Amino acid sequence: MRLQNKVVLVTGAASGIGYSVTELFAKEGATVFASDIAAPASPYSEDVEVLKLDVTSEEDWSSAVAVIIAKHGRLDVLINNAGIIAYERLDELEMKEWMQMIAVDQTGVFLGMREAVRVMRKQGAGSIVNISSIWGSAAVAGAHAYHAVKGAVRTMSKNAALTYATEGVRVNSVHPGFIDTPLTQAQAPDLNDLVIESTPMKRAGKPIEIAYGCLYLASDESLYVTGTELVIDGGYLAQ
Ligand code: NAD
Repeated sequence: MRLQNKVVLVTGAASGIGYSVTELFAKEGATVFASDIAAPASPYSEDVEVLKLDVTSEEDWSSAVAVIIAKHGRLDVLINNAGIIAYERLDELEMKEWMQMIAVDQTGVFLGMREAVRVMRKQGAGSIVNISSIWGSAAVAGAHAYHAVKGAVRTMSKNAALTYATEGVRVNSVHPGFIDTPLTQAQAPDLNDLVIESTPMKRAGKPIEIAYGCLYLASDESLYVTGTELVIDGGYLAQ
């Protein structure tokens, strides 16, 4: 019960890492609002509350947070997890794909942090966890827009952490390596093999291994932690 009495909003909760975070947090005693644009592949636990939230929509954000505040009077934790990937390299990247990546993975994080911070400042407490990637700190060839947004999420997190450090609002980023989710299952097998082969532990991570990192940052165990990068990557970035 590491999250007892916490009210949590998770984005991109229908699948992969977001689903695992939702289920773990509910087990740890949180009141969890699972939001997504898609329905979950498996049902959530009974007590999870479901919200439709397209992270690119300002309106969706304000109505989702309004629903949470109306029901519980507070928002303690936001997990900005929703994300998409695009593989085009720089010279092949069309404006449409670029704008779509920015909208979901970067503007989505901006809108979510802005909405949550407005509530959390009034409370004098709150924890925001933004899911970046190892590709927010290091690079592989290709996937230019994905590197752009994940790098932005890393520095946006640090900026927000410093801006609200004296107000009880903590902001941290999580940097998963290769995790076995529908997102990576849809990737070319030779790309997946290459990343796993380049990972010191020589295996894919599991969504729950990211969820446990988010749990620490969401809980009061990390009250002195803000502006940090939690890398969970089987050793990839240590190389
Ligand atoms: P996933 O595809 O399994 O889940 C992503 C979820 O986001 C889906 O349920 C999808 O419906 C939702 N989503 C997409 N667009 C949305 C929108 N506009 N509004 C709301 N929800 C939306 O992917 P995942 O692997 O679980 O990825 C989760 C996060 O982790 C992403 O930010 C991803 O970039 C990041 N990440 C994943 C890996 C990995 O190896 N799987 C590695 C590093 C970082």
